[in-house]
Amino acid sequence: MTFRPIHQIVQTRAVTEGAGVSVRRAIGTPELGQLDPFLMLDHFGSDDPDQYIAGFPEHPHRGFVTLTYMLDGHMEHRDSMGNRGDLVAGGAQWMKAASGVLHSEMPRQTDGLMRGFQLWINLPAAEKMSDPAYQEFGPAVVPEVVGAGARARVLAGEYGGARGIVDDPNTALLYLDATLAPGAAFEAPVPASHAAFAYVFEGAATVEGRAAPGHALVVFGAGDRVRIVAGDAGARLILVAGRPLGEPVARYGPFVMNTREEIEQALADYRDGRLVRARASVSGG
Ligand code: MN
Repeated sequence: MTFRPIHQIVQTRAVTEGAGVSVRRAIGTPELGQLDPFLMLDHFGSDDPDQYIAGFPEHPHRGFVTLTYMLDGHMEHRDSMGNRGDLVAGGAQWMKAASGVLHSEMPRQTDGLMRGFQLWINLPAAEKMSDPAYQEFGPAVVPEVVGAGARARVLAGEYGGARGIVDDPNTALLYLDATLAPGAAFEAPVPASHAAFAYVFEGAATVEGRAAPGHALVVFGAGDRVRIVAGDAGARLILVAGRPLGEPVARYGPFVMNTREEIEQALADYRDGRLVRARASVSGG
C-alpha cells in the first residue's frame, strides 16, 4: 500500500462563462489543459446574485459527460432531450451529451448562497456519437459514510461499503465530498491506474506533510491510497479519481472529440441545426 503524494498543485483561474458567470476553473486552463479523463473542473459560487443571475442560457455540448454537484442554492435545467430539472443543494446531475445536447443551466441562490462544481468527463471514441442521457439525483439518495472525524458523501464509485449514485463505467469514476473535523485524517483507496485529484473548498489540509491549499487543484502522484489531514479549522473537499482513456483529444469550446475533422463536423452540425441527432430519450421530467 502506497499513499499518493502531491504531484502538482494548480491554482485556479477566474474565468467568465455563460452570460457573465464567474467561475474558478481548475482543469481546462493553460496550466492544466486536461487530466485524462477529466476535461474541465469549474467551481462556481457567489454571494452576489448579480454575478450569475443570467446563468448559462441555451448552449450545445457534444462528446463528453458533465457531472454537476450542487453545494448550496439550486440550478434550473432544461435540455433538448425534453428534461426539465431543478438540481437542489446536495444533489447531482449527470448528463451524457454524447452525440449532442442543447441545454440551459440557470443557477439560483437559496438563503443567499449558491455554490457547486461541474466536472467534464471525457467519453471514449466509441461512445462520443451515441445517444444522450440524463439523470438527476436529490440529496437524500446520496449515501454518507461516517468515520472518526470525517464523513463522506459518495457521489460516484465505492467507498466505505457504500455505492455512489452515479456510475461511469468508462472511467470507473470515484467522486467523494468529504468533511473533516479539525486535525482529522481521511483515507480512501484509489486504484493506481486512476488519475486523482482533490479540491479543498473549505478550510485547509495537508497530504503527506505537504500543504494542500484551498481553492486549488491538488493532483495526486503514484500510489493506491489517498490520505488527507485537515488543518486546525477542519476541511471540506472533493476527492475525484478516474481511469484515463488514453485517446487523442480535439476540443473546441463545448465540443470534445478525437480529431480536428470531428470538431469541424460538430461546428457544422451546430450551425445547421443538426447537432441534436438523437430522438428524445426522456427519463424523468
Ligand atoms: Mn452546459
